[in-house]
Amino acid sequence: MIDLQEFSWLTAAWDQVSARWKSLSHGILITGNPGIGKGHLALELTRLLLCKEPNEDKACGQCASCQLLENSVHPDFHVLVPENEIDSQPEPIREHANRYFMSEKGASSSRKPSRVIGVDAVRLLSESLVMKSGQTGRKVSLITPADRLNSNSMNALLKLLEEPTADTYIILVTARPYRLAATIRSRCIQLECPTPVPRMVRSWLDRRYPETTIDVLPFARCGIGPLQINAILVGGEQALFQALFKKLCMPTLTGTNPWLLAQDCSAIGIQTALRILQYRALAQIRELATGVESSPGCNNESAFSCRESSIRTFLEIGQFLLGPTGAVDEQLFLEDICTRICQERES
Ligand SMILES: [Zn+2]
Repeated sequence: MIDLQEFSWLTAAWDQVSARWKSLSHGILITGNPGIGKGHLALELTRLLLCKEPNEDKACGQCASCQLLENSVHPDFHVLVPENEIDSQPEPIREHANRYFMSEKGASSSRKPSRVIGVDAVRLLSESLVMKSGQTGRKVSLITPADRLNSNSMNALLKLLEEPTADTYIILVTARPYRLAATIRSRCIQLECPTPVPRMVRSWLDRRYPETTIDVLPFARCGIGPLQINAILVGGEQALFQALFKKLCMPTLTGTNPWLLAQDCSAIGIQTALRILQYRALAQIRELATGVESSPGCNNESAFSCRESSIRTFLEIGQFLLGPTGAVDEQLFLEDICTRICQERES
């Protein structure tokens, strides 16, 4: 378990939200780049909101409510997560989310895990929230990543935000708030978590892995946050990522075989690789528009040949990642993107 205090870059955001926790509106939108600890911040806020004897702006950690949450069996904590994201969540979030899968699924185990949070899950949440709270009187619902709600589930959620049950908080967590309907965003207070600069990430990792030297700049340049780097180190996948970074950050990709590039992408997981390529495309669009580097201090070599190519790649990957699982062959799609990158760099 990671303690929120470890994330120095989240201190200001936490102080901001915890100082006024007693008067928070019932809709809370937590945003910020992937892998920076937004889920942990949401969890800490949940602890505080559900605690029976909070110590000013901190949960006591001792009361029955805190214990229930710690043991992942709190009756007033309701979590919605898409099935394919469940394994990457901190433990109490994962365990609480399972409750909704049990009721919602019942489907065959051979189907691929869903990428979206469906309307049935939101309806079930809505039914649960009208029930009386079992502990402090307060109920907390966490939806993460909230950008995985589809249009039907967003409509159902909107109703919940418009007609909230008493003492209920709905915390939405996302790295892509622009994917949420404006009507949902306007009903939430927004808490933006800053991305730590590479120096902060390096000292955080140095404390955790004093024996390991890790170059955090290529990770930062590919939009991979400190918690994701931590998971990569735990999984022993550092060399696989470095092989891909080497190709993507080369002064030029001329002469790179697209199949080899696709192979390096597949090695880290196609979805992860596509997110990296999409992040690079977005970074390039921003850099061309503003003239400001998206990751100061990182090698500024671009993977795409021009603005049009970056925009096209960004949109296509976005569409693919949102589409139903299995609708398009992942490997073929990846090879297509890699071929384009390599060919454009050659022309
Ligand atoms: Zn407590």
